[in-house]
Formats: sequence, C-alpha cells, structure tokens
Amino acid sequence: MALYLQKYGGTSVGNIERIKAIAQRIASVKSEGHDLVVVVSAMGHSTDELTNLARSITSKPPQREMDMLLATGEQVSIALLSMALQAEGCRAVSMTGPQVGIVTESTHGKARILEVRTERIRKRLSEGNVVVVAGFQGTSAGSAGTPEITTLGRGGSDTSAVALAAALDADACEIYTDVPGVLTTDPRKVPEAQLMPQVSCDEMLELASLGAAVLHPRAVEIARNYGVSLIVRSSWSDEPGTRLFSQPSRRIGSEGLELGKPVDRAELLEGQAVVALAHVPDEPGVAARLFEGLGAAGLNVDLIVQATHDGNSNDIAFTLAEAELPAAEAFCRQHMSEGSQLQVQTGLAKLSIGGAGIMGRPGVAAQLFDGLSKVGISLRMIATSEVKVSCLIQGEQAAKALRTAAQGFELGDHQLQHNPLPRGEGEPDVRGVALDSDQAQLTVTSVPDRPGSAAALCRALADASISLDTIVQSERQRQSDLGLCRDIAFTLPRDDLSQASEALRPLLKLWPGAELVAGKAIARVSAVGAGMPSTPGSAAKMFKAVAEAGINIEMIATSEIRISCVVQEDDGIEALKAVHQAFGLNGEKRYQAKGTESPF
Ligand code: ADP
Ligand code: ASP
Ligand code: MG
Repeated sequence: MALYLQKYGGTSVGNIERIKAIAQRIASVKSEGHDLVVVVSAMGHSTDELTNLARSITSKPPQREMDMLLATGEQVSIALLSMALQAEGCRAVSMTGPQVGIVTESTHGKARILEVRTERIRKRLSEGNVVVVAGFQGTSAGSAGTPEITTLGRGGSDTSAVALAAALDADACEIYTDVPGVLTTDPRKVPEAQLMPQVSCDEMLELASLGAAVLHPRAVEIARNYGVSLIVRSSWSDEPGTRLFSQPSRRIGSEGLELGKPVDRAELLEGQAVVALAHVPDEPGVAARLFEGLGAAGLNVDLIVQATHDGNSNDIAFTLAEAELPAAEAFCRQHMSEGSQLQVQTGLAKLSIGGAGIMGRPGVAAQLFDGLSKVGISLRMIATSEVKVSCLIQGEQAAKALRTAAQGFELGDHQLQHNPLPRGEGEPDVRGVALDSDQAQLTVTSVPDRPGSAAALCRALADASISLDTIVQSERQRQSDLGLCRDIAFTLPRDDLSQASEALRPLLKLWPGAELVAGKAIARVSAVGAGMPSTPGSAAKMFKAVAEAGINIEMIATSEIRISCVVQEDDGIEALKAVHQAFGLNGEKRYQAKGTESPF
C-alpha cells in the first residue's frame, strides 16, 4: 500500500463536471488500497476574480485582507470535492491549510512554509479517509499568538502539495493539470511544443523561474531539496506525463521546510581567460557570427555577457580556458568590425555557488559579493541564474575566494569542488525554452569599479526584497571623479521597477555621476538544458535563430545550463518560436491547454 499526494489545478476543478470526473479518478486509486492526500486549487479563474473584486474597492488592498479573501477560493473546491467523493461512496474529509498544520512565516501574500504538522492528517488517513486539502494557504503564529491565514503566492498550490509530500514522506506527488505534462515550451505561445518524458529538477527550476508557469518554482525547490518523486500529468487522461528527477531523499532539517540552507555547493574553475569586445555594432547577427565562428574553430566558450550602451553599440565579453585564448583572440582580431576594441585578460578564476534556494532569495548573491569585497576581491564579471551565482576573479585570489564562500555559506569540504569537469554528458543541450514577458531593464551608469560596488547594489535591492534576474557589468570603463567606472545593467520584474529605483537612490548619492536609466519594455527568452556545458555551439545556435528572425538582442546572460537573451517585448514570441525550432524541439503532436469556462 502506498501513500500518494495528488494535486489538481484550477482548470482541473473548473466546474462540477470536472470535480465529479476527478472524484472518480481518486476513488478508483483509493479502491486499490492506497492512501491519498489530495490538494486542490480554487475553481477555474476564481482567484483572479476575487483579486478583481478587491481591486474594484482599492488599488492597494491590505495584504492581510487579501489573504483572507483569496483563501476562500480553495475552500470552495475542497468542500465540493469531498462531497463528490462521498457521493462516489469514498470516505473523504476536507481540511484547510491551517487545519492540516501548514505553518508559514508571517509574511502575507508570499509566505514560505516553515513546518507541516502531520498528526491530524495522519489520523484522518488512518481512519480510511481521502484527505482533501486546500492548497495555497497556511497559518502563521501571528502577533500575540493569534493565528493568521497566510497564502503562499500565486500558483502556490503546487508548493503546498510538494511540501505535504515531503513532510508525509509520500511515495509520489502527482501534479494534475490542463496539459499532458511539462512541454518544451508553453503550448499557448508555440503550438509545436512537445512533451518532455523527463526533466531534472535543476532544469525545471530554471524553466519554472524563467516563465514556464506549469510548476511553481518553490515546489520544484522543495522536490529537489528533499528528493520528492514528482510527476506532472493531465487530469484529462491516463498518460504518464513528465517525471522530474533529483537527488535521493533528505530529511527535513530544523531550519524550516522552505528555509533550509540556500547554498549547498561552491566551485572554483581556474585557468580562465576573458575576451572583451567593446563598441561592436548593435544590430541583429553580430553575436551569432562571433560565436558561430568560435564554435567552428572548436573553441568552447563558457560565460557570455552582453549589454547595450549609448543606444547604438554593444559590449560582448566571454570566458574560456586560457589554453584556448590565442585561437579565440586571433579569430576576434580577424573578424572584428572597424571601431571595435578588443581586450583580453588571463590568469582568472570562476567562483560559483549553487543551490536551489538561491532563487527568490535576493540576499544570497548580495551575501557572496559582500563577503568577497570585505576581503578585497573585485569581480571581473558576474553571471547569475536561478540556481547558481558565478563571478570571475583574479586567479591569485581564488583560494581566498573559495574559503570566503565556504565560510559565508557554512559549506563543508565535501561541498567544495576544484576544477570540475564539464557536466551533462549525454544529456540534451536544450531541453526546453521559456519566455518571461513581465520584465524591465534598469541600468546604473558610472558605478565605481572597485570591490564592493556590485555588492552594495545587490544588497540595496535585496533589502527591499527585489530579486534580480540577470545582472551584467559593462566591459566599457569610463573615467569619473571617483576614478574608473563601469555601468551595471540588470533585469527585474516590471512590477518592482519603481521600488527598485527608490531602493537605489541612497547609493546613487554616494556615487557622484552615477545615474539610473530605465530601459524599454523587454522580454527574456531562455534556453535550458543539462547537456549545455558539454555541447559547444549552443549559444551560437540560439543567437543565430534570433538573428535570422530579424530580432536584435539587447542583453545576453548565460549560466551553466541556461542562455538568456533579452529582446524587445514585442519580439518575445517570435524569438521564442525561432529558438524552439532551432533546437529541434518542434514536433507534430499538438498539446493545447484545456480552456476554463466560468465555474459558476
Ligand atoms: P494549474 O491551474 O493546473 O496549476 P497552470 O495554469 O498554473 O495550471 O499551469 C499550466 C499552464 O502552464 C498550461 O496551460 C500552459 O499554458 C502553461 N505553461 C507554460 N509553460 C509550460 C511548459 N513548459 N509546459 C507546460 N505548460 C506550460
Ligand atoms: N488559486 C491560486 C492561484 O490561482 C493558487 C494555485 O492555483 O496554485 O494562484
Ligand atoms: Mg499552477
């Protein structure tokens, strides 16, 4: 006899007919003798409808009252599903988040789960019930010990389900939704998207945070951290769906279920060189030609960053092994356009920290950069992703940098790696692509080029709870009253733009000449695949696809298993389609998502 956790999303419980259909599915699993805990979302679009009701009263509803309001959506579906199960002759009981003991932080609107007190749920299971749990909600201790209803953030029912599966040590957690599983991209944007039979948690973490809304990123983080066996499949069929794979299971520590250590490894890659091209023309195809040429010469480029400057010219910088520098430099000299400048530097090292908890915790990058600046280490280049933060530093400071990271994030020797070999042999270079449209670009110009500047910037934003998605230091330096300066550009969720500007104002006062420049509306297209580190040429393929669609790339940022291109918002879908096709992900089958009619 197994214990299964099943989660049904909004469309899957979108009307009474659907609720009856899933009740039959649940009852048949129960009749095989298994224990079942079922987490459900609010019916159809009812969370949106409740949000609209609140907004029709005030543009800034109090967060506590919003939680009180939104939590009612899930309460409707648990009661109806329990009734439907009982009508099928299946013992069932509905329970709210607080009743099942989902204890969260007190932050309304996006609370993290601290603990799941499983006694009550276990008792109900032992009595032979299917326990039907309201997703997306929990309870905080509240001030003066009065419990408060909290919600976990939009899409958070996935997180409720995986957290319950981890706490109950369930045999599997199945996420039932309106598509047959995780697809190579969003089928609403690219109809040719195909099903992925499997995907690693690291890949899914990147995809989910970069726009693949099929799973809440925090649910993937919990699955990865505690080794929950996670499956995404359609509630309309019996197809097997997509299996997520991760490490073996781990016990939940005392730090809090979602607050475990955010960083679980650090690595150092020595013998790195950087090639920086400044003043290259800002037009489609430049990056594609450069990286195609390097790929054809057998050169394996690691990090790539590109930022736009002064409206009409770009800087592109990339890193590669020192041994490959002479060939790369020769190629660039031969092919660079008139007016461009080339700089190379050897004797560098790449320090990276990794862990699923980096995502959504803006303080982690700030803590790394702070720690390095305190011991006098400056950052030559920065690359961030959802699961990794990397920076390029002077080779002679490498050992000190690794020690600093290890101390700062309390890592033991077994969590440190020196010069790891490229990973992902045999894995696809790109497993999926995603588009994130609600993005904005912000540049801080003339930031002093000295240890601590990037750290101060990240710290100011982290203290305001703002996560940076992509951060790029310019190659171009200029002289100001404070000495040499660089620009630092980053992308962030558009809703955070004005708050970010506020948060940075005090810093700008310390840096005379520095200015904040808000960019145009942008979208970010990302390709993700575990095989990328061992497949030269993936970046070139992506840039070529975007260029051939006639689209200009505004910014480039890469990390180990991801390449992101920032494009103008209006070009987002075209760029996504082009990249999806270029990596051979288009297929014949059509997987349209099921529509949702009004639940009532
Ligand atoms: P649920 O209500 O079941 O939680 P969601 O709407 O949150 O469903 O997530 C499912 C939707 O996610 C799909 O209908 C699809 O449009 C969208 N989606 C985005 N990217 C992907 C992807 N890579 N694979 C599958 N679905 C995706
Ligand atoms: N009902 C909530 C939402 O629409 C939670 C969820 O569906 O996961 O965001
Ligand atoms: Mg969802």
